[in-house]
This record gives sequence, structure tokens and C-alpha cells, in this order.
Amino acid sequence: MGTRGSRQDMLRTAVREAVAEVEITDVHTHLYPPAFGDLLLWGIDELVNYHYLVAEVFRYTDLSYEEFWQMSKREQADLIWRHLFEQNSPIGEACRGILTTLHVLGMDVAARDLASFRPYFEQTTVDEYVDHVFEVERIKQVVMTNDPFDDRERECWLGDYKPDPRFRAALRIDPLLNGWPTAWQRLEEWGYGVGEELNAATVKEVRRFLTEWVERMDALYLAVSLPPTFAFPEDSPRGTLIRECVLPVCEELDRPFAMMVGVKKLVNPELRDAGDSVGKSDVGVVEHLCAEYPKNKFLVTMLARENQHELCVAARKFRNLLVFGCWWFLNNPSLVDEITRMRLELLGLSVVPQHSDARVLDQLIYKWTHSRQTIARVLCEKYADLMATGWVPERMEIRRDVENLFGGTFWKFLEKKL
Ligand SMILES: [Zn+2]
Repeated sequence: MGTRGSRQDMLRTAVREAVAEVEITDVHTHLYPPAFGDLLLWGIDELVNYHYLVAEVFRYTDLSYEEFWQMSKREQADLIWRHLFEQNSPIGEACRGILTTLHVLGMDVAARDLASFRPYFEQTTVDEYVDHVFEVERIKQVVMTNDPFDDRERECWLGDYKPDPRFRAALRIDPLLNGWPTAWQRLEEWGYGVGEELNAATVKEVRRFLTEWVERMDALYLAVSLPPTFAFPEDSPRGTLIRECVLPVCEELDRPFAMMVGVKKLVNPELRDAGDSVGKSDVGVVEHLCAEYPKNKFLVTMLARENQHELCVAARKFRNLLVFGCWWFLNNPSLVDEITRMRLELLGLSVVPQHSDARVLDQLIYKWTHSRQTIARVLCEKYADLMATGWVPERMEIRRDVENLFGGTFWKFLEKKL
């Protein structure tokens, strides 16, 4: 009994160490290198103004939406802090995350004084701060979300940006796929010979557009977020563009197509960025794509908890499908725990259990601190189950597995030959 107890302790220590020390590849974020200027959000007021907290503050305040949006960022942060940290205990995950972040940065959160945190951020430069966050959380690389339809971002790419190796690109094509009636006009402005009708000439030019941007950004994958109603095949501009442009370009350039499925856009438009919701989607669509396009790779995450089991089963059937992350409303400890457990049971280590989706640099700290805790706990249990059979996981094996979960599996998927 004593021996088994101490073996379990050794196991826990080995797993915790491996998870604490692993260098992370964060496969989906909304972060940018410092060279992108204001596009990179960071600091305490951005943290407190995270759209998760904007949604939450309206559950307590009578303030009108309009009044809120007219306030300065600092006033908004003060209001959020008052309601979500002073007048109520900050037990929600997004609130707790701010406390974790400040705590890891060495600040005293006990005083409950928002103003006391500001000087730290005012006294650091963005370059120093990026270095610090990456170091403190052991982040090796983050994958950005890069939208050539965003004029501010476009300018950066077309200017003299010298790539920062910590920030890798992903070509985000929501405006193209979900807004073709206006997107084609932008393409035309930029010199592509396109019209609204998706004829052979337009298809060829859209392919050229995608290819040029993948190459310009050295994008690791192409990505889109999709509504719960997403269907494929589909007689729509989106369906045609995916079939005729996106999938052929992905195959030719050997880049996965990442689909983030299940977001209901602007259920409450008054909330702006905080106004999106979730709906159940059809995993059959993912299966269809994987089956019909075996030479294409698909990175898929789904927003509805109800879709997670089916999605795992789909990944068992198709090696060109890699499931990743607990996205947005799923990025809560209880759900990450449940989903990670299920994925490891159904898919072993061939998943990417988490991405941060960080919009504010500082969020890398709490999102990864919290995810590390949950994933380590699940792994400890899974290895303990193996130990009960007499299979003793070696320290090096644990490290190998952890490295795969926190990035290795993603990189291997990119290199996989189909
Ligand atoms: Zn995202």
C-alpha cells in the first residue's frame, strides 16, 4: 500500500513537472507581434475589458448599452471592476483569470484596487512585456488570426514587417466565405479579375488571392469560423468557394483548413464583440468533408458542448481530421476537464487539447495556467489507471506525451503525408 502510495506521488510529480516545463505552441490566438502596433492588445484595462467580462457586467448593471459604449476604456474597466470584483466575488472563469494573471505577474490582488495595478503596465514597454509573458508561461509560439480584409492588418503585411518567429500566421478568410457579396468587390479593388458570379475566371483569381496571401504570411493554415447552420456541399457562394478555391489551394500548398464551427453571430448586437452565442452544428458535415477530400487536412473545433462526442468519433474515422481546443464558452475548467477526459479516452494523444484564443496578450498567462492545471489532473488519472495494470509510465514517456499534447501533435499533423 505504502509503495503504491509513493508511486502515485512520484507519478503526480512527474506529470506536474512535465506540464509545468513544457514549451507551448498555442494553435489559435488573436495576438500580434509588437510590430503590428495597436493591433496587439495588452495591459490591465484591456484585460478587464475582455468581451467575456463585458457580457457579464450587463447581468448586474442597469446602465444602457449606449452609455457603456460611450465611456472611455478606463471608465469601462472601472465599472466592470466595481460590479464583478467589488460588489460580487469574481468566481466566474474570466474574472478568476484576471486574478491569476495579476498573481503570476507578482501583484497583490488582495487589496481589490484596480488603480494599483496600472503603474506596472505603464512602466513597461510592449517589447519587454511580450518577452516576459512568453517566458513566464513558457510559450514557444502562438498562431495568430490574420485577416487580409482588415485594412490595418493588411498594411502591416504589405509594409516592411520582418517576421517575429514567436508569432506564426493563419490566413483567416471569414469575410471571403461568409460575405462574398461585398468581399469580391474588395478583391476587384486589389487588382484581382473577379466578378460576383463564381465562374471559372473568378475561381482562378480567388485561388491566386489565397495562394499569394498564404505565401506572403507563410500561413500555417487557412481558417474560418462558421455558423451552426454550416452545410457542405451547399449551393451558396460559401459552398462554391470552399469546393473550388479553398480546398484546392489547401491541398496544393499542403495547408490544413481550420473550421471553427458553431458560432451564432450577434444574437445581441448591442453587446458588439460580446454579442455572439452558440448553437449545435452538424458533425456530419465534417465527416463528409474528411471523406470526400482525403488529401485535405482539417483542423476542427466546435463550440457546442453537445457536439464534442460526435466530433471525437469523427476523428477516430478520419486521420485527416485533427480536433483542437476547448473554444470560448467551453474554456471553463469543468468543461475542459470533461472534454479532455473524453478526448484522451477516445483518441489517445492524437488531439490538441487546448488553445488559448487569447485576444489580450496577458491572457496567455491565465488561460495556460488554468489549462495546464486541468490537463495535468486528467493525465495523472489516466496514467494512474495504467499503473493499476502494472504498466509504469516512465518519466521520459510522460514528457514525450505532454510535449505532443502541448504542440507536438499539431506540428506533426502539418507535416503528415496524406
Ligand atoms: Zn478565436
